[in-house]
Amino acid sequence: MALEIYNSLTKQIEKFTPIEENKVKYYSCGPTVYDTAHIGNFRAYITVDILKRTLSFLGYNVDHVMNLTDVDDKTIKRSIVENTSLKDITEKYTSIFFEDLDSLNLIRANDYTKATDYIDQMIDMISTLLDKGFAYKTDDGSVYFDISSYKDYGQLTNVDMSQMLANAQNRIKSDEYEKEQVEDFALWKSYDKDDGDVFWDSPFGKGRPGWHIECSAMAKAKLGETIDIHSGGVDNKFPHHENEIAQSECANGVKFANYFLHNEHILVDNKKMSKSLGNFYRLEDVSSMVSDILAFKYLVLTTHYRKQLNFTKDSLLAADNTLTNLKKHIREIYTEEKGSAIASYMSSFKEALESDLNTSLALAKMWDMIKDTAHTSADRYATLMEMDKVLGLRLDHIKPENIEVSQDIIDLAESRLEAKKNKNYEQADVFRDKIKELGYEILDLPDDKYKIIKP
Ligand code: AMP
Ligand code: ZN
Repeated sequence: MALEIYNSLTKQIEKFTPIEENKVKYYSCGPTVYDTAHIGNFRAYITVDILKRTLSFLGYNVDHVMNLTDVDDKTIKRSIVENTSLKDITEKYTSIFFEDLDSLNLIRANDYTKATDYIDQMIDMISTLLDKGFAYKTDDGSVYFDISSYKDYGQLTNVDMSQMLANAQNRIKSDEYEKEQVEDFALWKSYDKDDGDVFWDSPFGKGRPGWHIECSAMAKAKLGETIDIHSGGVDNKFPHHENEIAQSECANGVKFANYFLHNEHILVDNKKMSKSLGNFYRLEDVSSMVSDILAFKYLVLTTHYRKQLNFTKDSLLAADNTLTNLKKHIREIYTEEKGSAIASYMSSFKEALESDLNTSLALAKMWDMIKDTAHTSADRYATLMEMDKVLGLRLDHIKPENIEVSQDIIDLAESRLEAKKNKNYEQADVFRDKIKELGYEILDLPDDKYKIIKP
């Protein structure tokens, strides 16, 4: 089998074939650094991570670029509200973003492109669009993309073109809008006093770029005119990705991205996450509820990326328990002895991932393997380490602790073993509970052996 992924452009599962053999040019939409990212955003970044790790696991060399939107409507608004410079506010949230990425063990991109470093490339692209007749200037010095000039507009989201024609005279200046408002959109926004000191000079006059042109220009600058994969959350489909496709394809005259991949949203208690509903979570909120923040990543991996994930405190705690349980199993099978990855399990794990990143099936395969005592501990441990290269749950950090155990605990453990040998399981459980009350746990090993751990 080979990797198959759902392509939002064709709306079907397709075999993945890169432009250049073994190499993947990948652009994913990154954060707008005007605030701390929420758990929904991190579902998008976890999806990016699992895709990248899967591609590397399958032998591809991935060149991944993620943008940092450090100038747009939201960042400017926030800098005004907080009475700080745009640079200060975006640098603050960029560094929080990187801390959060690291806490979830998400592999860094090869490049994080800051929009403000690519203004020249944006101006060049807008000039090309003007020259080719895909854009026009307005009296106030703004530049708009003329969507009626691009016959393929709306291919991702099946935009109703009759709606567009009805609105043919209309333009939209804000970065975000609904599908019902499909209109000519801003490539360059003429200076407005609300922009404060945020502006650049350009051949079209003083102003700033629209949000959508940022990604088109940065993807081209870093990865070239046609890329293999472009991704983001489903909300990015319209208008952001539709507009990126229109700008890039009209300016460059070639296809923009061969595959578009979109993750579904996180809901909280089955509702859209929003501050006004009081069901809004950031990573630090989640972190205070679990013993390990990677439980959130585990939870995300239990649901296919194209399905909505309903986040509840219970589901998070269940994921935390499962991860704790997994760690117990690892301590049990941990050995210094070198094993080798079990081929049959590695191949079913790989097949699950090749099937449009079926992470929940991949996790199920991992659990089957870890419990399969027909294989040696050393081989199971080696298999797990290979699998974790994709799962990224930092399982290689789990080692049995060399704990000092008092003689009382050892006596209780020995009494429990004796009771077990005599098939007096009720009595054995009483000893186990006593050990637990004292803060320790017994892990049973083959041949009547056991380990005492501190969970
Ligand atoms: P933003 O910083 O708003 O541009 O969003 C960053 C990424 O998070 C984008 O790819 C969005 O599509 C994605 N995203 C936003 N909200 C959610 C959500 N509730 N669930 C999953 N992904 C989301
Ligand atoms: Zn983007």
